[in-house]
Amino acid sequence: MKEIKHFINGQYVGSASGKLFDNVNPANGQVIAKVHEAGQAEVDAAVKAARAALKGPWGKMSVAERTEILHRVADGITARFDEFLEAECLDTGKPKSLASHIDIPRGAANFKVFADLIKNVATEAFEMATPDGSGALNYSVRRPKGVIGVISPWNLPLLLMTWKVGPALACGNTVVVKPSEETPTTTALLGEVMNEAGVPPGVYNVVHGFGGDSAGAFLTAHPDVDAYTFTGETGTGEVIMRAAAKGVRQVSLELGGKNAGIVFADCDLDKAIEGTLRSAFANCGQVCLGTERVYVERPIFDEFVARLKAGAEALVIGEPNDPTANFGPLVSHKHREKVLSYYQKAADEGATVVTGGGVPDMPAHLAGGAWVQPTIWTGLPDNSAVVTEEIFGPCCHIRPFDTEAEAIELANSLPYGLASAIWTENTSRAHRVAGQIEAGIVWVNSWFLRDLRTAFGGAKQSGIGREGGVHSLEFYTELKNICVKL
Ligand code: NAD
Repeated sequence: MKEIKHFINGQYVGSASGKLFDNVNPANGQVIAKVHEAGQAEVDAAVKAARAALKGPWGKMSVAERTEILHRVADGITARFDEFLEAECLDTGKPKSLASHIDIPRGAANFKVFADLIKNVATEAFEMATPDGSGALNYSVRRPKGVIGVISPWNLPLLLMTWKVGPALACGNTVVVKPSEETPTTTALLGEVMNEAGVPPGVYNVVHGFGGDSAGAFLTAHPDVDAYTFTGETGTGEVIMRAAAKGVRQVSLELGGKNAGIVFADCDLDKAIEGTLRSAFANCGQVCLGTERVYVERPIFDEFVARLKAGAEALVIGEPNDPTANFGPLVSHKHREKVLSYYQKAADEGATVVTGGGVPDMPAHLAGGAWVQPTIWTGLPDNSAVVTEEIFGPCCHIRPFDTEAEAIELANSLPYGLASAIWTENTSRAHRVAGQIEAGIVWVNSWFLRDLRTAFGGAKQSGIGREGGVHSLEFYTELKNICVKL
């Protein structure tokens, strides 16, 4: 059986405790690898290596040299594209057709885009008068923040981890990454690419394990980590923020959402159906930006529901290697239990189940997988847990509305504020409504369209801070003002 080890100071090492946990293929329930679980000793070693690398060659390297190395990391991922694809799909169960377009190319792009960006960032300078008339010059320089703890989730493992590691390294920091226990493989594989690309030992470190009382908690409690960047659930974000408060360490938190889609009667219905289908069911609904609440203007409500139902029922459920499949399993049986508990709640509360609501029949070789049906409900009250809590599964609730003001109020009614999608062909309305939605990202007539230079993050309980483009540089560097009396 394959073993997945930590990557510390440029080498793969096992846990001193000998503790291993299972890595399971969610498409069939089979154990595909044994993963070493980090204890305090491995986390200490990783942080120590990261601190030493900061003081070593990485810290002294020119931006141009660092950029060249990070380009080689991106090229290394691309050169081993099939290996990364296979690993990501085995860990997550997602269709290869999806991961080959999004997860792996974006994983590589995250190194190039941020390396190129840092090369072109200007700082500021101010001349000032002084009472003695000689004056002073202020100028700022950017310095790496130090050792960054990166804690990532399982839904887009390589993409979301490199989205933080790429800019962190581009800015000259070193990292200790704790990937999700569900999806350790591509983070581990990236260690080989780092070595091949000439990244000095200790710059990129990985410790595997769980959250509480395991690698995640040891990392967030470690006094020698300077800042934490985290993607995951809002509740976990709160725990990490509390841990980071000790020693006043900064946090960047990309958290959960319960995103609203608003479909006006003046929309292009084909586009709205296509976009809402993707936003509700892509990656089996396990996308933080996905739409789980859909508000549809009453005149087109029935037609919208009927067409979304037809679209959901046309999805092809299958395992990653099935070239016809566009809908995979959930990431784990544990997560399936959570999603199915909401399917049950919806039924208990008397929802109209438009489609789905259960577990699909799968062929014998996939029967052990974490499968659920794509599901659409109508008829639930606005305060139902199904409508207010993040399910993170392939499901949405559709509710009619009558006025623009009502739609905005509904969209803004929850403590989350990650993303929203508005569907209308009326340009004035699009701008007017987008301006009033309480969310970090609002799409108009699209979904999941992202330019890595733009600010990304959540409002309200969906996060703290923004990453992307120069905003990542703000988080991963410390701006120092130098004032010189002339
Ligand atoms: P999660 O919060 O359960 O776990 C995320 C990571 O945190 C994992 O590596 C986990 O091991 C670690 N962790 C858990 N408890 C910890 C603790 N006490 N201390 C330190 N680390 C701990 O989230 P998940 O289930 O892996 O991912 C799904 C969630 O992520 C959803 O809520 C989704 O909305 C969110 N998400 C948000 C974004 C975004 O950009 N805002 C993107 C993707 C996913």
